[in-house]
Formats: sequence, C-alpha cells, structure tokens
Amino acid sequence: MNRRQFVSAAAAAAAIFARVPNVLAASYDLLIKGGLVIDPSVGLDAIRDLAIVGGRIAAVDPNIAAEATETIDARGKIVAPGLIDIHTHAGRSEDGPKLALQDGVTGWIDAGSGGADNIDQVAAVARGAPQIGRILVNIARTGVTAAGELHDINAANVALAQGAIARHRDVVVGVKARLSENVAGANDLEALRRAQEAAAPFNLPVMIHIGQTVSPMRAILPLLKRGDIVTHMYAPAPNGILDDQGRLFADVAAARRRGVIFDFGNGVADHFDWPTVERAVKQGFWPDTFSTDWNVMSKTTGVVDFPNVISKFLMFGMPLSQVVACATVNAARAFPSFDNRGTLNVGAPADVAILELREGTFEFLDNYKGTRTGRQRLFPAGTVIEGKRVPVRA
Ligand SMILES: [Zn+2]
Repeated sequence: MNRRQFVSAAAAAAAIFARVPNVLAASYDLLIKGGLVIDPSVGLDAIRDLAIVGGRIAAVDPNIAAEATETIDARGKIVAPGLIDIHTHAGRSEDGPKLALQDGVTGWIDAGSGGADNIDQVAAVARGAPQIGRILVNIARTGVTAAGELHDINAANVALAQGAIARHRDVVVGVKARLSENVAGANDLEALRRAQEAAAPFNLPVMIHIGQTVSPMRAILPLLKRGDIVTHMYAPAPNGILDDQGRLFADVAAARRRGVIFDFGNGVADHFDWPTVERAVKQGFWPDTFSTDWNVMSKTTGVVDFPNVISKFLMFGMPLSQVVACATVNAARAFPSFDNRGTLNVGAPADVAILELREGTFEFLDNYKGTRTGRQRLFPAGTVIEGKRVPVRA
C-alpha cells in the first residue's frame, strides 16, 4: 500500500469509525497554503489551506500541518473553485482548451461553433480537452458563419440537429440559436421554435443569443423554458432587455423568476455596452453567470481572459464572493455535466483557480470602444485540474 492508498483507506475508514488519528492523514499530493479561499457553494470566504489527494479535495482547514508531494504558496491570492465559462468557442481548435485552462477555466461550453454538418470536429476537441468541455449544437446545420447562419431558415433542420445530439450524447448538452438580425433576419422566432423542438426529446436546454433582433424580447421570452439561457443579456437596443426609457422590461424579470438564466457573454462586436450594463445593474438585474464568448484570439480583444471579464462586475460594485459565485457554482448549476464542479467541498474533484486581485487603475472595454476605469482586476495565477497543477501562461 503506498501512501496515497493509505490516505484513501484512512478516509474510507473515517466513514466507518468516525475518528481517525491525525497521523494517518499526514500526507497529501498537493497543498495550497494560506490563500483566501472563496467558495460560495459552501459560503466560505476565509484564509484556509486546501489539501488534495487522489485528484480530490481532501481537506479545507486553517493551518494544515502535513506533508505534501507539492505545495503552492497562495498567500495574498484567492483560491476559488475552477472557473466555468458557459459561452465560449473553445471547441474550434485543439489548442483552445489548453489556453483556457491557463486562465483558470476548468470547464467550458462551446456555444454553437458547430452544427449538424461539422459538430464531429468540435466533439473531438471536447473529448480531447484537459478539462470538461461540452457543446451546444447550433440549430443551423452549418454552425456559426460570418454571413449569419439562419438567413435561410432551411438551415435550421430539426432532424439533423437531433441526429447530431444523438451521435454525441456524451458531449452535447444543449442547443444554441443566434437570433440577431445579422444572423437570422426575420427568422428569429422560427429558429428558436426549431431549437426547442430539437432539444425537447433529449430534455436539453436552449441558449439564445439576443441583441438587435427583429422580434422584441416580449415575443422571444415566451418561447423559453426553465433552465434555458439568454446570453448577451446586456445587448443594447434595438430589442434588448430595457425599454426606451432604460427600464427593465417586466417580462425579463418574470423570465428570471421562472428559471430562465441570464448570462453576460462578453464577445467582441455588439453584445454589450457600458450604459446598458449600468442601467440594468442599477435596477438590480445582475448576471446569473458570466461568460466570455472566448476564442483563441481573445487575448488581444476586450475579453483578454475570463478573470478580466469578471473583473468588469467588480467595477460595478458586485461583491467579490458574488462574482466568484457567478463564475463557478452558478455556472455549474446550469448544466448537469458540472454537477460536482464549481465547489471546493471535501470529496469534490480538485479543480481550483488561483487568482490574484490587484489594486490599481485598470481600463475595461465594452464592444463599442467604450472604456471604463476600475480599481481592481483579477489575474489568473494558477490552475489545478483534478489535483494536477497547470503551468501559468507566460
Ligand atoms: Zn458565441
């Protein structure tokens, strides 16, 4: 019996005997020492040591005095559950998932890069990813296209989409429909109906991309069910979540109450501007989840990385623990694939994001060249995936 098995055996014995002499728990694979552990899934926000053995969280306690094969000094840093980004395009290329992992992203959803015609490649990237990668199949058989994949409504083929889901049940976890006029023209509602029809027999959620749609939100929202996701929630007019006076539509608040999830979805063009964010959050309409709409080029855009995107909400006054919740446990709850993720609870797979919260002057971009200056920004400072340390991006 090696030491790791010994510790595992001790943990098993603990369940039976309820009391284990300390000496038995004296060795871990990895210790993350002295960080500010923020785990909203268990309401923890305190300086703690975190011990990992066999790829799982073994202990979260003040001052764990034990040996470990490897130790990370996390003093002055934040230790959070691995970040989960529910709107990315990480599945477009093989190097995407590895790059995202270096930003602390231990789970991602590729939202519609592929449709029935090309989902096999995206599925292969997801299966080969170092972290949990999952896919929303685009209701348009082509996946995302630059010209807009839904101008011809025949591209939204329900049978083909269902075939794609059936072929890839292990990685496809929902359906995506991009509804903006430049993607779908006047086909927005019909495309959404077809997305729901494709998802229904599999009991999967639909994610819609809103903003500058032909149809108003009051026509779109009734087509959404509990657990569906609205991404690009702060897209400016026409046909966003605010009326002409900047007030939140009552139907939008009602949709949230009945379980529709509202996701930030940063992206690069359209999708959000500062005035819309400001008006919405002043009315208490914060995101349920953040997401980047990330791809391998995001480093050079206003996205930069996931920690940068979530820092935008620190600037608007969202408390740090709430910011971490949106990027971890809230995102995990949106998809059953992440059931045991988004937490540092003992026994959970050890996916950890180490972040540095720097104070200073930081400029943040919206998608209309608007800049705002914040006083804090989160930086990726280390990732652990299932107990294994990942090198930080240079
Ligand atoms: Zn996207």
